[in-house]
Amino acid sequence: MIRWTLRVDPDIPEDISITKTAQRIQHILDDPRGWRQLGCRYLYVPKGDDCDIIVRIANENTIRKICHFPEKLSCAINGHTILLDKDNFLYGVPKSRLSRNDYVTYVVNHEFGHCYPLFLNHPPNDTCRRSCRVMAQQTRGICHARPSPWPSTCDLQQTQRFRKPNKRSKK
Ligand SMILES: [Zn+2]
Repeated sequence: MIRWTLRVDPDIPEDISITKTAQRIQHILDDPRGWRQLGCRYLYVPKGDDCDIIVRIANENTIRKICHFPEKLSCAINGHTILLDKDNFLYGVPKSRLSRNDYVTYVVNHEFGHCYPLFLNHPPNDTCRRSCRVMAQQTRGICHARPSPWPSTCDLQQTQRFRKPNKRSKK
């Protein structure tokens, strides 16, 4: 079981419910179309004790300082901290051609794909047959096929190459 928690940075002006947002993310992680297909099971831990992954909803400037991006993006650091861009998360990204709801699904699946126990990289080729891979940077609008918020067969196959030994796994 992979334990994760959620934080909203104190300088976020919007009133974001941690409980509701965590439920929404957990719902995506529990969906059979997601990383669950690979046997990944995620558990939301409200207090954040002994977590494998910390998700932070953060402002653009915070993320730029930490991840040094030239664009407005979310990122995963060292496979255990996910910084979600607040605006992208709340309002979606038209350039991705995903609906607001699908964008949230996409960014959760993408960033968790970078983290324990998957540690996936961005694919060299962003398409898988006719749909984009979830590990492609769809936020940047670089997907030339149908955008997709869920892992494709190509994403799932990629994990066979990048998955690391499950040493930290807790049952
Ligand atoms: Zn990425």
